[in-house]
Amino acid sequence: MQKNSSIKCSVHQCKYNNTSESYCTLSSIKVGTHETNPTEVQCTDCESFEVK
Ligand code: SF4
Repeated sequence: MQKNSSIKCSVHQCKYNNTSESYCTLSSIKVGTHETNPTEVQCTDCESFEVK
């Protein structure tokens, strides 16, 4: 898979991850939150994630 040099990602369980270099291979992703009032990095999610 061709990596997108603009999107680093360490989620190797995702089917869009280039695991050898830890980059996303999508041309764009959607980031969101599962919180009503996000205050920390842990509050954010990649909503383009799909499990392998
Ligand atoms: S879709 Fe999201 S979680 Fe999956 S590799 Fe890309 S940035 Fe990472």
